[in-house]
Amino acid sequence: MKFKYVIVGAGLAGLTMAERIANVMNEKVLVIEKRSHIGGNVYDSYNDDGILIHNYGPHIFHTNDKGVYQYLSKFTKWNDFWHRVLTYVDGNLVPMPITVETINKLYKLNLSCSQVEEFLKEQAEDISEIKTSRDVALSKVGRDIYEKIFETYTRKQWGVDPGDLDTSVISRIPIRLNRDTRYFADKYQGMPSHGYTRMCENMVANKNIKIMLNTDYKEVIDQIEYDKMIYTGPTDEFYNYKHGKLSYRSIQFQFETFDKEEFQEAPVVNYPNDYDYTRITEFKKLTWQEHKKTTICKEFPCSEGEPYYPFPTKDCKARFALYEEDMKKEENVLFLGRLAEYRYYNMDAVVRRALDLFLEVSS
Ligand SMILES: Cc1cc2nc3c(=O)[nH]c(=O)nc-3n(C[C@H](O)[C@H](O)[C@H](O)COP(=O)(O)OP(=O)(O)OC[C@H]3O[C@@H](n4cnc5c(N)ncnc54)[C@H](O)[C@@H]3O)c2cc1C
Repeated sequence: MKFKYVIVGAGLAGLTMAERIANVMNEKVLVIEKRSHIGGNVYDSYNDDGILIHNYGPHIFHTNDKGVYQYLSKFTKWNDFWHRVLTYVDGNLVPMPITVETINKLYKLNLSCSQVEEFLKEQAEDISEIKTSRDVALSKVGRDIYEKIFETYTRKQWGVDPGDLDTSVISRIPIRLNRDTRYFADKYQGMPSHGYTRMCENMVANKNIKIMLNTDYKEVIDQIEYDKMIYTGPTDEFYNYKHGKLSYRSIQFQFETFDKEEFQEAPVVNYPNDYDYTRITEFKKLTWQEHKKTTICKEFPCSEGEPYYPFPTKDCKARFALYEEDMKKEENVLFLGRLAEYRYYNMDAVVRRALDLFLEVSS
């Protein structure tokens, strides 16, 4: 059988492209995926106790992109979910991101919104040239909050001191000078009512789409006839590491089930200073599933394992720039997604990228 398109990787990037090619262009597409399931990192499944878990860590959909929200809403309904995160500091659970409530709880104060603004200004350090994530945090919240909330968490997450990390890492964490304790401020937020995997299955329910699981594309690609490839796997692997390996941060997920209905106060609790894990997620608080037991997941960041977060060091950026030169020369391969483009994408951003790429391809 000949395919117009072969897609490597059945994550959200690959599946969005497959869905568009099959439904809009009415062309045949083959998706090759090395894991035993579709969905990539958004994959969720029922564990042995019948509790829906996110196998690759908690995924919360949030976006201001109406087009992406409308697109995914064709394949799922949503639970009206607003994410909340608490952080365990000095024996207290305080809301994240930093809000007026966080400051008041942390310092046992009762300040108004404008007083918190003043408080943070007094704490903030005057740093002439902001070069690292530590500079960003110190200039926004000062040393005490930096040490309580950001320093050790960042070291656990990335394995290096915030002073050695790009400004992009900590600047993503918003500070809110109000009492809104929702984690995200985006207009559209939710959980697919029957899970991400069901949403993904609905995306590819088209006879034009064939899916080959448990297969590294390199094992079979020579025997497949196709016109164009859309590659969503790691770029360095595609080029047999000719410019060296790109670094990623990985995570080991440790799941535990308890014979009680509830484990913790919020869907996610961060542990910046205590324990080796960074955070604990309680899935029932994300999915609203009713069950007598509850399953949690502890996250232990590490350098070896599945590539999850691109490591934003200068060396890796330079190495990727060399791969980018090669990518531009490819005539029959399009690179898409968080591995191929070596950048962190949220779910909405990767779907937007795929929808835009499809428009380019189909025009
Ligand atoms: C721990 C964690 C938490 C996250 N939480 C959120 C969140 O709360 N909200 C949010 O919006 N986003 C979140 N994200 C980001 C989200 O997971 C990504 O946006 C999304 O998964 C990107 O999709 P993708 O298709 O680019 O990559 P992936 O999902 O990684 O898909 C790529 C696929 O390619 C396959 N592949 C790789 N190499 C080969 C090969 N040689 N042959 C065949 N197949 C191959 C892989 O197995 C994988 O299935 C989170 C990410 C992580 C890691």
